[in-house]
Amino acid sequence: MKKHICVMPGDGIGPEIVEEALRVLNAAAKKFGHEFSTEEALIGGSAIDATGTPLPEATVEACKKADAVLLGAVGGPKWDTLDPAIRPEKGLLGIRKALGLFANLRPATLFPELAGACLLRPDIVGKGLDLIVVRELTGGIYFGKPAGTEVRDGKRTGWNTMIYNEDEIARIAHVAFQAAQKRRNKVCSVDKANVLDVSRVWREVVIEVSRQYPDVELSHLYVDNAAMQLVRDPSQFDVIVTGNLFGDILSDEASVITGSIGMLPSASLGSAQPGLFEPIHGSAPDIAGQGKANPLATILSIAMMLRHAFDMSIEADAIENAVHKTLQAGFRTGDIMEAGKTLLSTREMGDKVIASL
Ligand code: NAD
Repeated sequence: MKKHICVMPGDGIGPEIVEEALRVLNAAAKKFGHEFSTEEALIGGSAIDATGTPLPEATVEACKKADAVLLGAVGGPKWDTLDPAIRPEKGLLGIRKALGLFANLRPATLFPELAGACLLRPDIVGKGLDLIVVRELTGGIYFGKPAGTEVRDGKRTGWNTMIYNEDEIARIAHVAFQAAQKRRNKVCSVDKANVLDVSRVWREVVIEVSRQYPDVELSHLYVDNAAMQLVRDPSQFDVIVTGNLFGDILSDEASVITGSIGMLPSASLGSAQPGLFEPIHGSAPDIAGQGKANPLATILSIAMMLRHAFDMSIEADAIENAVHKTLQAGFRTGDIMEAGKTLLSTREMGDKVIASL
């Protein structure tokens, strides 16, 4: 199969980790007989330095004509004092909007080899931690109108609106059910239907959509209970689907309990446009350019790209297995290093994954 990928290395450790991920992608292409062409585009601080804007029009165009987009990370102290309107992070929000990426998929997976870094008790994670949070990304309270601040009756007052229509709910529900079909066939929809009207519509629509996926088991939790269940027994979850605000909080909670920020990939998907795949961590300016960055989150983002953008599950499994094997063999970058293991540079970690593949 032939696919074209727009690659945005970004800032800080971005270029180093993206380089390793692309080497792994090329190795997978060779192994499975695919052809992946790539084109680089500027985003974030490096785009500001070169063009004065964090998201040049040429980047948006390059992304739109690609089959998928790979992003490293953006930002760093060099650009922290700029006007917020042209900060590197604006490039991220801008490209998500330009590509209509309404679904954010954040897996939280505990690699058994890294169980020592997990923040939960061994008996709790002993049952496994392997879930995906599917978060609605372009609606809900972050974008709902009316919103604003004013002085009312002499008091400073602020308000926002949590609003979803049935189309917005149905399309994110479809993403969740389809993701579950590629995993363990379970979806848990998280809302606050005991209090919020918007959640009652959410629940109704999710139930309606579920009828198209009889092979997937649907359950519901209120968000406060979901937050507790995530730390009490994360093994009960396969796919969690929820709105923008609840998803923001739950996806961070789910990933932080694994204890390994350098290990976690993510995907943002739209309807027709290409999806965007990126590690969940930032540009790690403190270690940039030193060959210390962990490239595994970006390598696993490539696996997500193969699975969700190109329907190449076998290839995606092969990359994920190669990462597991590399960890099992005791190889580590600094962020996940433990006594008795072998410390590798960014490049060496890429080499080991390719060898395992
Ligand atoms: P960060 O994720 O960049 O770093 C947090 C800590 O984790 C640092 O100690 C860093 O060295 C370490 N770390 C992160 N990724 C690592 C990796 N792959 N290998 C080894 N160690 C790793 O978060 P931060 O320090 O809060 O932010 C730094 C910059 O990144 C800021 O400018 C921020 O705005 C930006 N940021 C960008 C994104 C993105 O591009 N999606 C996300 C978060 C933060």
